[in-house]
This record gives sequence, C-alpha cells and structure tokens, in this order.
Amino acid sequence: MSCDVLVIVEHNEGRLKNVSSEILSFFGKIATDNGVKVVAFIFGDHISEKLYCDIGKLGIREIVSHVNNELDEQPGLVAGMIADLAKKVKPKLIVMANTVKSRDSAPMIAQKLDIEMFSDILNIDYKKTVINLARLVYGGKAIEKIKLLNQQALITVRPNVLGNDENEAFIPTITKLKTNELPRTQTYLTKAKITKEKVQKPINEADVIIAIGRGLRRVEDLIMVNDLARVVNGVIGSTRPVVDMGFVRRSHQIGQSGRSVSPRLAILLGISGQIQFVAGISKAKTIIAVNKDSKATIFKSADYGIVGDIYSIVPILTRELKKLKLQNR
Ligand SMILES: Cc1cc2nc3c(=O)[nH]c(=O)nc-3n(C[C@H](O)[C@H](O)[C@H](O)COP(=O)(O)OP(=O)(O)OC[C@H]3O[C@@H](n4cnc5c(N)ncnc54)[C@H](O)[C@@H]3O)c2cc1C
Repeated sequence: MSCDVLVIVEHNEGRLKNVSSEILSFFGKIATDNGVKVVAFIFGDHISEKLYCDIGKLGIREIVSHVNNELDEQPGLVAGMIADLAKKVKPKLIVMANTVKSRDSAPMIAQKLDIEMFSDILNIDYKKTVINLARLVYGGKAIEKIKLLNQQALITVRPNVLGNDENEAFIPTITKLKTNELPRTQTYLTKAKITKEKVQKPINEADVIIAIGRGLRRVEDLIMVNDLARVVNGVIGSTRPVVDMGFVRRSHQIGQSGRSVSPRLAILLGISGQIQFVAGISKAKTIIAVNKDSKATIFKSADYGIVGDIYSIVPILTRELKKLKLQNR
C-alpha cells in the first residue's frame, strides 16, 4: 500500500474532532478532483463502524486503523507507530491537526523520518508537482510561504482554516493494524513496563520518589531504577522528555505541566534541574540529586548531591540501602 497524503485523524472517544473533519474533507475533495491518493489513519480506543462511515462521508476511500486503548497519553508510542506506518505507505505529505496532542508527537515523527515539519498551516494549495503552503510565524505577526517540490514533509493544520467541503461519500476500505504487525521498536518494548507501573501509587501521594531524567539512556535501564525503587518503597516519576520518549506514563511526570509532589524523600537521577521540573518537586522534604555534571542546576535545589554517573551510582545506592534495610530488621 502506498499513498500521496497520509492524514492522521484525531477523535474524542469515537467522535471526529472538527479540525480533523476539516482536513479530511479538504483532502477528500483533492482526492476526487486531482486523483491524489489519500489515506486516513485512525488510532486509539472507541473506534466504531460509525466513525469509519463518518470519515467515508468526507470523501475518504481508504482508512488504516489501529485500535489500542493505551496510546492516548503516550506521544512517544504514537510517534513510533505513525513513523512506522509512514515508512510503509511512503506519503509525500503527512497531515496532522494543530492540537495539544500533535504538538508532542509531530516533531518526534518528523525526527524519526528525518523530514521537514511545518506547524500552524493556514492554507494549502495542492498541485501534482508542487504544494504551496502558508503559515503564521513570529507569534502571528507574519505569514511564511513555503513551496514543497519533491521533499516529503509533515504539516500540522490550524482549526477553522480549511472550511468543510461537501464531498461525494464513499464506503472506505479499512485496513486494521495489529500491534504485532508493527515493528518492535524500542518504544513498543516500554508497554510491558508501563502496564506494570499501573499498580504504583499515584505520584502525588508517594512518600518516596525516584525521578529519572534524560540521563537514563535506554528504556531497559528502568530495570536498574526499579531495583532501587523497590528497596526504598519508592514510586518512579520523571521529567517531561522521559515521558515524551514513552519510558514513563504521563501521570508520573513531575513539573509545571505535570504533577506537583511533596514526598519525604526524592532521589533525582540524571536530571538537569530546569525551572519547569523544579516547580513540581520543590515541596519535597529531602532531595538527593545524582548528576555527572558538577555544575548541573539541580544541585542548587538538592539537600545532598552526588556528582557521578547514574549507571555507577544507582547500583551502589541499591546495594548499600539493601544492606541497611537487612541490618534494621
Ligand atoms: C511550557 C513548558 C512546560 C514544561 N513542563 C515540564 C514539566 O512539567 N516537567 C519537566 O520535567 N519538564 C518540563 N518542561 C521541559 C523542561 O524545560 C526541561 O527541558 C526538562 O525538565 C529537562 O529534562 P531532563 O532534566 O530530563 O533533561 P536534560 O535537561 O537534558 O538533562 C539531563 C541531565 O542528565 C545528566 N546526565 C546525562 N547522563 C548522565 C549520567 N549517565 N549520569 C548522571 N547524569 C547524567 C546531564 O548532565 C543533564 O544535567 C517544560 C518545558 C516547557 C517549555
């Protein structure tokens, strides 16, 4: 299967979002008028026959769907899945809605595919050999005009700019993807861990938190952090980039756009200490930070600092705390 345009559809519990309807009807018309092959990709929970019908009514003839109730809050997983699909169907243009959800996943998809990305699109003039785009820049004070010739690109389209074309309705063909049809990339491996994590206490009720940052390189390394968490009865939290990578659930993100926490003890591993993170952890009674950079800002917020590599320090901490625990029994 291949296509010219891959539209990533957003819906609220099975009801198409307005902006997705606008995008679908715009490309439905282009498909009919210009013979452009458009595929709509829909994923998540609550995907019903009615939803497929609603998409067909907008002039779309082909849908790929992936039913999965764990994807919604995992931009890393979503990005991996869409990038994998795009590698298969090779669209010239990937189109997403300009929403809070796509703000997280769109740049990751573009990075995974190594293609250009343009957000805030206001206008699309789709021709066979050239696609002309316009978008707002400088906080809405100027309009940038972009010409796409042969390069593949990802765009995010603003709501209420494309209108709603009346198109001929189709009964779309539907290809349903199963998880095991998708390549097992690193992000898919995280799902088992995420499921296990569900039984953990909510992060804002935790007495002890082990928070991880980008210093943790691979998802497999969570095993090392889990070992430490088990010894101290801790709950794992993280910075936002770690959530975006799909290592930890969004509900365990600490900071300005995550949760504010007030544990008795917080052990921070490989976290730089940006203000947006510190805003969520500042009420912790005792903070121990481990960072290999002696000048890391996080040390200003910490009661105890360890300058070192988390990959050497965490196993030592775990071993020594285990010993202490046994002695105190
Ligand atoms: C509007 C807005 C809201 C935001 N909200 C949040 C939020 O709620 N929460 C949040 O966390 N961020 C948030 N951010 C992002 C925030 O600005 C930072 O980008 C983020 O906190 C940095 O995460 P980090 O410390 O994991 O990564 P980095 O800043 O990349 O730091 C990684 C650190 O790990 C250290 N390190 C690397 N390898 C090792 C190793 N092997 N051993 C020891 N140390 C190592 C490095 O020295 C570095 O200090 C927000 C940003 C914006 C713009």
